[in-house]
Amino acid sequence: MYIVMIASECAPVSKVGGLADVVDGLSRELANKGHKVEVILPDYDCMNHSIAGNLQNNPTEISVPCSGKQILSTVHRAVVHGNECFFIKTYSQERYFDRGVYYGDGDDDERFTVFCLSAVEFLLNTGKRPDIIHCHDWQTAIIPALLKTKHRQSTLSETKTCYTIHNICHQGKTSEKILKLAGFEPPFFTGGDTMADDSGSACINLMKGGIIYSDAITTVSPKYAAETMTDQMGGGMQKTLSKYSGKYTGIINGIDYDSWSPGTDKCIPFNYGIESIDAKYKNKEHLRRELSLKQDFKPIVSVVGRLDMQKGVHLIRHSLLYALDNGIQFVLLGSSPDTEIDIYFHHLKHYLKSNHNCHIRLGYDEELTHLIYAGSDMILIPSLFEPCGLTQMIAMRYGTVPVVRNTGGLSDTVFDARTSVNSITERNGFLFDDFSYDAVELALRRASVMWYEKPHSFREIMLTGMKADYSWRSSADKYLSLYNKISGRW
Ligand code: ADP
Repeated sequence: MYIVMIASECAPVSKVGGLADVVDGLSRELANKGHKVEVILPDYDCMNHSIAGNLQNNPTEISVPCSGKQILSTVHRAVVHGNECFFIKTYSQERYFDRGVYYGDGDDDERFTVFCLSAVEFLLNTGKRPDIIHCHDWQTAIIPALLKTKHRQSTLSETKTCYTIHNICHQGKTSEKILKLAGFEPPFFTGGDTMADDSGSACINLMKGGIIYSDAITTVSPKYAAETMTDQMGGGMQKTLSKYSGKYTGIINGIDYDSWSPGTDKCIPFNYGIESIDAKYKNKEHLRRELSLKQDFKPIVSVVGRLDMQKGVHLIRHSLLYALDNGIQFVLLGSSPDTEIDIYFHHLKHYLKSNHNCHIRLGYDEELTHLIYAGSDMILIPSLFEPCGLTQMIAMRYGTVPVVRNTGGLSDTVFDARTSVNSITERNGFLFDDFSYDAVELALRRASVMWYEKPHSFREIMLTGMKADYSWRSSADKYLSLYNKISGRW
């Protein structure tokens, strides 16, 4: 099968968040399975050009129709991290991708629409005829509409589209101006089955277009798929998603086993596996030395992640204080784009600086995360919502038991030690339902009591997590089944 991914990010060359890891990991796994995979990306001036260093010298030049004008774009080919990539640069006075930023410059709707128009024009001009075009998030959501309308008689008429929602909160709300830029006429602008936002306001919603015009819609976990069709968690998109639920599924992301394997991880001092799990405790000692924590007979609970409302910052803070009062050591590694939250945690760090039962590290430190996953007993994820979540899967791979809120992808990957309906051989963590202090306290108490009083049971839970498969292998198979289904191959 011939698959083209079109996205605004791909690790490691242009990464802002989890989207980049998904585009990279899924593309490589599909190629490993013998499929032809190409990834089309913007050529940002700020991307890691040393990784994309082998950009081909003779770019393909294309002329892209935009609002009645022609914009010149060039496309460079490069193999990045094993992926065959095409980087699109546009030449206009707006300098769309030469701003030193990936997102947030006020005209992202226009920047990514021009990117999408260029990507489609590139496929048409070069005569490429992929079986599947897979688009991600609002930035590329306009592509299914372009194929189903403007280009329905083109060489891409047989190509099917898959559209993945990575976070329902970012929908690409914009104005009619963007549709006009892309060459759409007013019938697309108003009414239920158009790109008009469901709120009834005059705005255009690009994600809605992706949902309506794609042949398959996915999100990154089955539970999140169900949640996004409810009034509470649908972010205004619930009506449209429910209407198109017949083509909407949730597929859990995988994690990159080249980066995340305790048996081969170069960032931890003691490698280990299921058969040699005792070496995990040498990493725990090392973690304590590195972070100036007391060597003591106590469990370590850690948090690794963005510090924002989604991740339950007030529950993280409360858990830290609860842990210190209840014989638990606590490690927090996080960064926050929100100044108020950032200042709050800096104050807390200062207040607790002489406490050797906790360590707060504010910032981004990829290497330290490996030691934290290897050296902790538990990982805490008290998210308000979580489309998929990678940290719980990485932690389980390292034998670190997740204590998580029962939401989104956390519900699909973590099964409670006591209350789960799953068989005992699948129970791998601790869950709590309410987004409240009491609920997170109870979950931490249950986990720490088991650690202290039933170490054999605790170890069983650790081993269950380590034995499960979180690689891209099975997730990529699910995407392949979907691609086969929409392209009529079965
Ligand atoms: P998100 O909602 O942020 O995408 P995920 O759980 O899906 O959350 O993925 C988070 C990824 O980012 C994990 O690989 C985690 O290890 C990493 N990460 C989060 N915060 C930090 C940090 N402060 N330093 C280093 N890595 C981090």
